[in-house]
Amino acid sequence: MQSLRFSALGHLAGVDPTISGAEHTNKITEVFGSNVFSGKVMREYLSDEAYKSLMNSIKGGNKIERKMADQIASGLKSWAMKKGVTHYTHWFQPLTGTTAEKHDSFFTLKSDGTALETFDGDALVQQEPDASSFPNGGIRATFEARGYTAWDPSSPAFIIEQGAGKTLCIPTIFVAYTGESLDYKAPLLKALSALDKAAVDVCNYFDKNVTKVTATLGWEQEYFLVDETLANARPDLVMTGRTLVGHAPAKGQQLEDHYFGSIPERAYAFMRDFEEESYKLGIPLRTRHNEVAPSQFECAPIFEEVNIAVDHNSMLMDIMNKVAKRHRLKCLLHEKPFAGINGSGKHNNWSMATDTGVNLLAPGKTPKTNLMFLTFFVNTIKAVHDHADLMRASIASPSNDFRLGANEAPPAIISIFTGKYLTEVLQEVKTRVSNKFDEQDEAILKLDLHRHIPELLLDNTDRNRTSPFAFTGNKFEFRAVGSSANCASAMTTLNAIVAKTLTNFKKEVDSLIEKGEKKEIAIMQTLRKYIVESEKILFEGDGYSEEWEKEAARRGLENIKTTPTALDAFVNKKNAELFISTGIYNAKELHARHEILLEDYVKKVQIEARVIGDLATNVILPSAIRYMNQLITNISGLKSIGLGEESYVAQKQIVGKIAEHVNVISDNVQKLIEARKAANKLTDSRQKAIDYCDKIKPYFDVIRYHADKLEFLVDDSNWTLPKYRELLFLR
Ligand code: ADP
Ligand code: MG
Repeated sequence: MQSLRFSALGHLAGVDPTISGAEHTNKITEVFGSNVFSGKVMREYLSDEAYKSLMNSIKGGNKIERKMADQIASGLKSWAMKKGVTHYTHWFQPLTGTTAEKHDSFFTLKSDGTALETFDGDALVQQEPDASSFPNGGIRATFEARGYTAWDPSSPAFIIEQGAGKTLCIPTIFVAYTGESLDYKAPLLKALSALDKAAVDVCNYFDKNVTKVTATLGWEQEYFLVDETLANARPDLVMTGRTLVGHAPAKGQQLEDHYFGSIPERAYAFMRDFEEESYKLGIPLRTRHNEVAPSQFECAPIFEEVNIAVDHNSMLMDIMNKVAKRHRLKCLLHEKPFAGINGSGKHNNWSMATDTGVNLLAPGKTPKTNLMFLTFFVNTIKAVHDHADLMRASIASPSNDFRLGANEAPPAIISIFTGKYLTEVLQEVKTRVSNKFDEQDEAILKLDLHRHIPELLLDNTDRNRTSPFAFTGNKFEFRAVGSSANCASAMTTLNAIVAKTLTNFKKEVDSLIEKGEKKEIAIMQTLRKYIVESEKILFEGDGYSEEWEKEAARRGLENIKTTPTALDAFVNKKNAELFISTGIYNAKELHARHEILLEDYVKKVQIEARVIGDLATNVILPSAIRYMNQLITNISGLKSIGLGEESYVAQKQIVGKIAEHVNVISDNVQKLIEARKAANKLTDSRQKAIDYCDKIKPYFDVIRYHADKLEFLVDDSNWTLPKYRELLFLR
């Protein structure tokens, strides 16, 4: 019998590792941004008036007049058609976690039958995709059944090439007719504008010239590559993006021979191709390397404004999936595709920059700029301390649950690593700044700070890889974000909480100033208060250790291990107040989002439950039973030629063991089905998600345990699922 596994293995032997469809230029600068409606292209294709209007909208968020929109649309069309584009689409990021497009052609027929290519302001500014199947958490069911996409001028239009086809993509936000946001982008843009305003106000204590603060993001994308033909022989990989069963290979990652080793040829060819596609779209990819686990890799760009960086990461994930197919590879973005092997994350490096060119999280050279740095540094710590539950919720997903706290990724406890020197600086502020802060203290403090900061720049070595939120010299790194996540979720939360904290900070400082305190002293005193209030979240030790779990519990830090309850943070009183007061979500949107995330959780676990049931029943048990039959035939044969019991001791033992595992699996698949039926009757989404997590998921582990034992016992030629060693080590 020829199983898919063996035909895939046969196929693999014939793969040319260097295959590549693309032609490559030697100079990245020659292709970089060639498919983007960039500032330079705008100059060329837009009138002065239209150009200015678009620029003002990008920089200042000004509204674009209808007349101008027509002009911009016309410029966009000329540019796109010159590049061979036939269709356009509003491109958006619905809460399904992927990107959405619906292509319309420029082509129209006039009433007299004349064929024309048109694209006007209306088509640019707004569209109504038939979006009834996107998640909406009940918003659109109760009001209008329709949603619309609206142009986001702050992210430039771009052209996607697929084979010979080219499509103009207009980045948009996706909202219900009643105005509630239904995507990742709309709340993100609101959070970024809240941060801008709050941060500018605080910057003005130090520098009156600052008029705009932009949050910056540099993500690091981890992923696995497996041969597509082998992956296709695994229903679990095809349907869920991860393996639901699979015996650990003899060799895992213990030799650490893959990490930073030379990149395998097939992976290298894939990287060059997806990088080329990315460059054309203006995604500034900079680094590529192997990761810790076998067949695991990472890429990272130069950081950009958060809004653009989020779009670029979404685009990149699409590109990686598409280009992988050209290489007969499957790119796994799942957080935990293989049990027992490191999972994948997407570190979000984050900072804030002023329009005067200052990175607000880079320690300055003068006492004044140091105080500004310290202000933003401490406010970020305070924000994360006050809203740690929300930070946890912002990265919660069924797939990320497998990774967090699995001794390879940060735990589900949110803590902050600041490094040795800044820990000392914070201590110093706390102990040396007395409640009655006087001029002398101020002088000492400034000197001391100044003494520490230059050394800080050398401090990059003691990076703590086990912390979920770490300061790394001139930025914070949110490491708990999952590899398949849309960065917008984490970024909306982080920017929202920092905006809120900065706003409160300004109020407190202003009120001290009104009472007659000197500005610097008012700032120092408020910072001291914030340090005292939030120091329990600071942790420099090993985040993977059991002691930390205990210590964190003593400190009263939360450790919510699973998504259904982690999501509660979105709707508790404190966080609802935060989102509503900053204008990022209204109450209805928050509840809808909570609902959507719970539904998403249920759906994903439900699919896995079905797949593992099918896999056990149709694939694993038949393989085991086939082998049992061979053994039984063998035993009867031995008996028939007159041999006694001692000649088939081993065979009999194996049959017994297999039969035992077969029965346990079969029994648990049945129980799993019953548990699902019971959970499906629940109408409350939160309770349903909790049941799926606590009552259904545990069966996966039992079934898996016995299936993996069978994989070990059953004759290799009878085993039809590609094994871990084949998925992970064949190049
Ligand atoms: P590593 O952490 O691997 O040593 P870097 O510190 O150079 O590498 O940067 C890691 C990521 O952080 C990159 O994507 C980079 O663009 C990003 N990054 C660097 N500075 C900033 C910043 N000010 N704001 C946001 N991201 C940044
Ligand atoms: Mg890093």
